[in-house]
Amino acid sequence: MAQLYFYYSAMNAGKSTALLQSDYNYHERGMTTRLLTAQLDNRFGDGRIASRIGLEKPADTFNNETDLIAWYKDGNPVDCVFIDEAQFLTKKQVDDLAFMVDTMKLPVLCYGIRTDFRGELFTGSERLLAIADKLTELKTVCHCGRKAIMVMRMDENGKALTDGAQVEIGGNERYVSMCRKHYYEALYQ
Ligand SMILES: [Zn+2]
Repeated sequence: MAQLYFYYSAMNAGKSTALLQSDYNYHERGMTTRLLTAQLDNRFGDGRIASRIGLEKPADTFNNETDLIAWYKDGNPVDCVFIDEAQFLTKKQVDDLAFMVDTMKLPVLCYGIRTDFRGELFTGSERLLAIADKLTELKTVCHCGRKAIMVMRMDENGKALTDGAQVEIGGNERYVSMCRKHYYEALYQ
């Protein structure tokens, strides 16, 4: 039975590393895969999935308009599809992925950030949490050592920001993963 998987976490938990490792395992067993990542994430250049520890691989990209069923049918059939930055999928795109899993017997593994810097679910993550077959939390830690589940956006002076666009294109350094206690402490200091 093919399944729809969602691996979720705060930022900098090694999602891309986990994705690339899993992709490697498929290839090691002689299986084929296709990789997809969000177009708006161009930190590492267009169409690449790159991990902070140096692994990287070319990938196709999606945006809000991408028809994922058409994207898949346009290429060669594979044993598994991997999607990075899955928080940026639309609700319809996640529903299409579920359709692909169920009707094409295609495993789809999605990796994404659960909530934004306001603690609100990203659209893609909300839908995946609702309908994925398998949910797995990838853990990262706060500076205090507790599990980090929140993402704080900070200005250049390290002050917590509470509003602004959900997605700010740019470097990672303005986002810090924190436990809930320290997230709220930083927010209300
Ligand atoms: Zn903490």
